[in-house]
Parts: sequence; C-alpha cells; structure tokens
Amino acid sequence: MAGLVPADFIETVRSRTDIVEVISEYVVLKRAGQNYLGLCPFHQEKTPSFTVSPSKQIFYCFGCSTGGSAFNFLMKRDHLTFPEAVEALARRLGLELPRPEGTRDRGDSASRPGALWARQEHYDLNAQVADYYHKILTENQAGETARAYLKKRGLHPRAWDQFTLGFAPASGQALLDAFTQKGFTVQALSTAGLLVNRQGGMLDRFRGRIIFPIHDAQARCLGFGGRALGDEQPKYLNSPETGTFSKSRNLYGLNFALPAIRERGNALVVEGYMDCITAHQHGFSNAVASLGTAFTHDQARLLVRYTQEVVLSFDRDAAGSAASLRGAEYLQDLGARVYVLDFPDAKDPDEFLREQGREAFAVALQEHRLPLIEFKFKQLLEQYDQDSVDGKSEIMSNLMEELARFDNIITRDSYRRLLAGRLGVSEDAVRQELLRFLNKRVGKDRIDKNRYNMEHGKQTFASPGGSAAEVARRGLFRFMCLDRKVWEWVRQEIGFAVFEGSLGRLVNSIAETAWGSSATIIENAAESDQAELAGLLIAGDDQEISQQQEQLVADYLSVIKRELLSKEIAVRCAELQEYRKNEEKAGIMGVMAELDRLYKELQGL
Ligand SMILES: [Zn+2]
Repeated sequence: MAGLVPADFIETVRSRTDIVEVISEYVVLKRAGQNYLGLCPFHQEKTPSFTVSPSKQIFYCFGCSTGGSAFNFLMKRDHLTFPEAVEALARRLGLELPRPEGTRDRGDSASRPGALWARQEHYDLNAQVADYYHKILTENQAGETARAYLKKRGLHPRAWDQFTLGFAPASGQALLDAFTQKGFTVQALSTAGLLVNRQGGMLDRFRGRIIFPIHDAQARCLGFGGRALGDEQPKYLNSPETGTFSKSRNLYGLNFALPAIRERGNALVVEGYMDCITAHQHGFSNAVASLGTAFTHDQARLLVRYTQEVVLSFDRDAAGSAASLRGAEYLQDLGARVYVLDFPDAKDPDEFLREQGREAFAVALQEHRLPLIEFKFKQLLEQYDQDSVDGKSEIMSNLMEELARFDNIITRDSYRRLLAGRLGVSEDAVRQELLRFLNKRVGKDRIDKNRYNMEHGKQTFASPGGSAAEVARRGLFRFMCLDRKVWEWVRQEIGFAVFEGSLGRLVNSIAETAWGSSATIIENAAESDQAELAGLLIAGDDQEISQQQEQLVADYLSVIKRELLSKEIAVRCAELQEYRKNEEKAGIMGVMAELDRLYKELQGL
C-alpha cells in the first residue's frame, strides 16, 4: 500500500505526528476523559460522536463508523492516496520525502512520485502567474483600463500590492506565450486550469479580467478569481475546481486576515473580493470573503479553527438566503458566537464603507449586529403576521430550533423572555413549546442514528450487541491488540480459530505482519477492515493492561471456553441419542464418560 514511500520513513512520520494536532486543524475537539470528542467531519451530526485517542493515535466515529490512523484521516478528508497522506504529514513536520532512486533533483517534475509533488508545482506555478498578472496591472499599458476601474472603485494601489491583484489581457494568448517561453508545457498550464480549449486551440482562461489570486491559510496560491471589466458574462470567473482548488472550502483573504482575527478574537465574513479588500483597506483587517453567495459548512469548519466569534455581513438579499443561514447555524453548532450585520440602508459592506467611511462602519459593527437568533426573529416578523394566531405559532415553531441550540440555560432563558415579550404570549407558553420540541428531537436523533447504522450494516461499538461470546471475542481482540502478552495468552488457551468473519481476518493479518501500535495495526489491515478495527481499538484503555483488565481477559476467555464446551456437549448429546436409538451399549458408556468430563470442565470454569 505504501508503494513508493520507504517503510522507515513512514514510521518516522508516524512516530512524530500527533493525531490530535492534525485533526484539530479540521475539527474542534474537546477533551472527554482520556479521549477527545468533536463533531464528525464525515457525516452531519449535532451531538459529537467523533472520538480521537491521543494514546493510541487513532480516531473513530460512533455515528458513521469511520475510523483509522492520522494517515487514514487525511486520506478520507482530503481525498489523498496513502503516499500523499504520508507526505502531507511529513511536510507539517518539516521532513522531506526521500526521492525514489533514479530521479534527479528539481526540474525533473514528471518523475516525481505522488500528486503532492504535482500540487507543490501547482502552487509554485500559480504564484508565478499571480506575479505575472500583477506586473501587467501595475506596469503594463494593457493594464490601464483596469487601473482606472480599481481606482474608481476606491481600491488603493497599496491594496493591489498586498492582495497581488492583477490584470489578464484580452488577447487570450498573453499568458500562454509568456509561460511557454519560461519553459512550462501547455499540458502543465492546462492542468493548472489556466487555459481553455477553444475550437481546437488553447486560449488563456482569463481574458480582459481583473485577477484576484486566492490563497489558503498557509498563503499558498490555490487559484484565481477573475472579474469582468465591463458587462461581459459571467461577471466572475474562477479557476476550475480541482484537488488543489475548491471555492467552497476556502475563504478569500484568510492568510491576510489571520493575525487580526487572532488579535481581535473575531472574524468578519463578507461576500465578495471587493468587500474583503475594501474592509482591509479601511482597517477591518479581520475580514474574509466567502467567495460566493452561500457560506458553506466547510468554510464554517475552517473558520472556527481560528476564532469563536464571527460577524457575517452579506448583501441584504443573500443574508436571508436559506443557504447562508444554514452555514451560519452550522457555525453556531460548532460552538461559535454568530452575529449578522444588518445594515440599515446600504446594500453591501463595500458600498457602506465607500459612502460612509470607517467610523460609521465601526459604529454599525457595534449597533447593527444582531445575534443570529435575533436576526432570524426579525426576518420571521417580516415574513409572518405576528398579530394573527397562525402567524404567532409559525414564528414560534420556527424559532424553537434556534432556542434549542443554546446549551446555556441563562442564554436560552433570556431569549425565551425576549420571544415571549415581542410576540405577546406568556413565557410559559414558550417554555411548553420548547419542551415539546426538545422531546421530539431527542427521539428523532436516536432514531436517525440507529437508522444510519442499520443502513450501513454497522454496529455501534459503544454498546456492542450479539451474544456474550461475541462480546467476549471483540473484547479479547481489543486487549490482544493492546498488549502482546494477551495475544500469546489467547493463542495458548483457545487458539485463533475461534475468531471468525472479519475478526478472524484481522487476527490473521496481524499474526502475519509485524507487531505494532494501534495505528500500525490499522494500517496493516485490509482497507475494508480499518474502520471496524479503529472502532474496536478506540474503546480500550492503555497500552499496558492492568490487573483488572487481566481479570477481564480471563473472564472473556472463560466465556469463550464455555461456549466451545457447550458446542461440544451438544455434539456429544446428539451422538448419545444415536447410540440409544441403536442400543449400542459400549457407545453409550463411552459418550456418557466423555459428557461427564465435559460437564465437570464446564463447572470448573
Ligand atoms: Zn461520523
């Protein structure tokens, strides 16, 4: 599976990587006993069932049964191959992936292994392209109209430099010519999404557009957004979605905004490139842009890695869009305090800042930001007639879900009072309604989870089902993986043949490969068994088993022995029946003696 990556290098990366740190970059984790808990990034959930074990260096989700090592996590999360995941973790640690024999140094990109080499090439190429377009904007005759446009929109040349804004000439050949002369192949430029195929010939993708390079948090250039100068459609054109570039998973300006986000403890989310740059220019350098009309779940996850307080400032029509609100709700579910900036009479932050200036915006940020629930309340009041009985009940039932989101009783109570007061109903009526809602939801959550597991043919290992012997086998297996001593003990006492099905496969695969940690065991297992294995291993305790656990192992062993004996007794009883039918005295005597021995053994357990 590891293929091109040497095994000892994998081991080095594994031993220096902390899975909690890696996963924390994607998931907000909270300590719970010896493990960490968070909301699963692989399925939608409201109560955390995603578990990370720092001692075993593995993760497992009790909701969707996804699990494995840090490598497995990155493979699933970022759709990487195993060597790519190894390299991604190596890069975090500042380790260089050893080159396979026979490849030369830099410049020989075609022979490099793995898509991550290609990915780095892609970032390097993009950075050069950004500089190229930036030069045209700032120095070239062709950039004249673009310069005039940006000035008219109030963007200072300082901001052009900071955000490496650029201009793509209209000819359609400029980039193609310049970069093939630099030695890049048409293939490489095309793969990076910089060219399009038109009537059999290659053309620059961006023509006659202002260019906004899009970076990730590590300031790597992922791709570009291009804005038309005139009325051409589409108004905005982006790099195509690739493994490297995904609009919905990144936030524009994040690399520039991070210091301010950390310093102020909050982020301002705006919609477009222009909004974001204008905000920075006016000193609101904690601004990022969602790069589209809706704020996505992925963007929410990305943002809560850096801050717990978010102010959303969207166009009036877009702020109310169901999609943006879902993103905002999700942000709240992830533990962030979410506010919506509700401008009195401007259509977006860009316009507001240009017309009313920095001071006014700062005031608006204080006075016109509403907690998400109040923003929704306001919307509902506009949508329904609060004077009618039907209107009141619509508003109430719509807000229950919001109220239920607050774990904090004081917050919940104060909103309950607010809601009752504004709707002119008793607080008790709201409390009743909320209780009804909560009851219904608790039931639904449970049903959803069970249905999910049933559909996927999975069992939740937190409460393993099956017979006592089945539970014992799983329990034993867990300890066998934790402690080599137990492994030998089980081999001598009952042998490995008692493990059947997927457990049997796992025991065999471990018996055949080198012994190691939980994470190694998982990686050595067949891909189809990895998640189940993580589920079994994550429930266990430490590496060295305690005396108490030894007792448990002994108990498991006797449960299984009892099962084996019972099976043998059943076989002997059937034999006895046969002998009796045929009146074979010698046979009867022999089996009786054997049964006597078996029963005594059973009693002795
Ligand atoms: Zn899950």
